[in-house]
Amino acid sequence: MKTLTKAIYLAVGLLFGTVPALYSQDMLAAQSPLDKQMEMIDSIALRDMLLNETAIFPAGELYDTWTNDRIRFNAELPDSFRVDLRGFTMPTTNTKITDIFGYRPRRRRVHNGLDIKVQKGDTIYAAFDGKVRITSFQRRGYGHYVVIRHNNGIETVYAHLSKKLVTEDEIVKSGQPIGLGGNTGRSTGSHLHFETLLMGKNINPALMFDFERQDVTNDFYTYRKGVHQEIDKKSGKIVESAEKLYHKVRQGESLSTIARKCGVSVNTLYRLNKMNSKTVIRPGQRIRYR
Ligand SMILES: [Zn+2]
Repeated sequence: MKTLTKAIYLAVGLLFGTVPALYSQDMLAAQSPLDKQMEMIDSIALRDMLLNETAIFPAGELYDTWTNDRIRFNAELPDSFRVDLRGFTMPTTNTKITDIFGYRPRRRRVHNGLDIKVQKGDTIYAAFDGKVRITSFQRRGYGHYVVIRHNNGIETVYAHLSKKLVTEDEIVKSGQPIGLGGNTGRSTGSHLHFETLLMGKNINPALMFDFERQDVTNDFYTYRKGVHQEIDKKSGKIVESAEKLYHKVRQGESLSTIARKCGVSVNTLYRLNKMNSKTVIRPGQRIRYR
């Protein structure tokens, strides 16, 4: 798939002139009118093929496979990747955030998305152009949910829907209704659980979507490997710092053995986790060490 995709990208470059102009001009100059005509026909056929290809394999430059299972998967992410956010649609017109992205120390679990208050039956829209990868139901989890892979490389998840309006492998346009808001699965009160992923890795949707302002944060979002990104509330700009790293506590471990394993001091663990010498840790708990 990848080789084919690369060949197609090169072809796109030739078609739309991103391959050096001199080269393509020389090619044209050396052609007879008939050849030119033939090339036009070929171009149209090729363009149709390319449009089809983008539709069949959205973001084919990033993804090797297309499956209708597993939201998350392990893939080697590029060091950085720029996501084009232009052409977005807000998934809901509702603006109230009821839960943010990130680790919940109290519940000892990670919240992979953003929760937005919606009423049952509210229309949920596709965030960008793309293709529906998963439509499924998880009684104890996401309830009715939809996963879309977008042409810009991002995947989005829409969960706890009362109804799904699309089917797997369906091509969708930005702003197309894909479901209705609801309270299915593990959910208390109707809301939209919204996730954004890049190559199987969850990214904080707030870095791209500002539901309160009903706008994207910028025309482009740049993912950087190993970098923690946060939105500065005052400026609205993305602030970058070293990525936070966690250690999952195993049976028999103490803060001092964890500190040694992670190559940091016990005091660092105290500080990062708001702990002290009296804190009791339990297996399965996540301890931040960077
Ligand atoms: Zn949620």
